[in-house]
Amino acid sequence: MDKVALAERYAQVKASIPNGVELIAVSKTRTVEEIQALYDLGQRAFGENYPQELRDKQPLLPDDIQWHFIGHLQGNKVKYVAPFVHLVHGVDRERLLNELNKRAANAERTIDVLLQVHIAQEDTKHGFLPEELRALVSAGKLTDRWPELRFRGLMGMATNTDDLSQVRREFDGLAALRVELLESGAVSTDRFTELSMGMSADLTEALAAGSTMVRIGTAIFGERS
Ligand SMILES: *Cc1c(COP(=O)(O)O)cnc(C)c1O
Repeated sequence: MDKVALAERYAQVKASIPNGVELIAVSKTRTVEEIQALYDLGQRAFGENYPQELRDKQPLLPDDIQWHFIGHLQGNKVKYVAPFVHLVHGVDRERLLNELNKRAANAERTIDVLLQVHIAQEDTKHGFLPEELRALVSAGKLTDRWPELRFRGLMGMATNTDDLSQVRREFDGLAALRVELLESGAVSTDRFTELSMGMSADLTEALAAGSTMVRIGTAIFGERS
């Protein structure tokens, strides 16, 4: 691992992110040594996609790391991350909310979650459709139905395309949906503050649309093998 190059890329990424926007370093497939090196440069928020990988790495790294789970989470894997996860970004179905709620209770802690919205023109991406989310919130206050969870906002992944105006429209749509849900009264105004959108390739568009959390892997660690 080239620590000098890592430090340079990290500094560059940090410089491109305004104050108040949280940088989550996406460390899926990276070694414990690479993560430790970035930690030593001051990074504390890391994002992982695979529950077992996260479960195995977590005990080998410092306790004050905030672990974000950003991938597609299967119900039977929730138990691996429930005891320590800082924020689950990709909550995309009611059954997962049920499972998270149950595992949070078992672990005697509250779990912070983001609702993932399907904003891309791609079938491979996950998430609630906006209509499904409207139906979910109109069925009652989310915290009444899932009392062990704290609903912190929305997450979305844009279409993987060179048409950056499309990407921008998709992010704008996600931002507008957050406002709409706030206005519906089903989510708490002071808590439903986050918009997790933006990766290495679409960071600029996400920031322009009002992202509060960006999930950056390649631009910090280099290409994944
Ligand atoms: C891998 C991944 C990222 C980071 O992607 P990069 O292109 O490496 O910045 C962000 N979000 C999710 C959900 C991912 O799976």
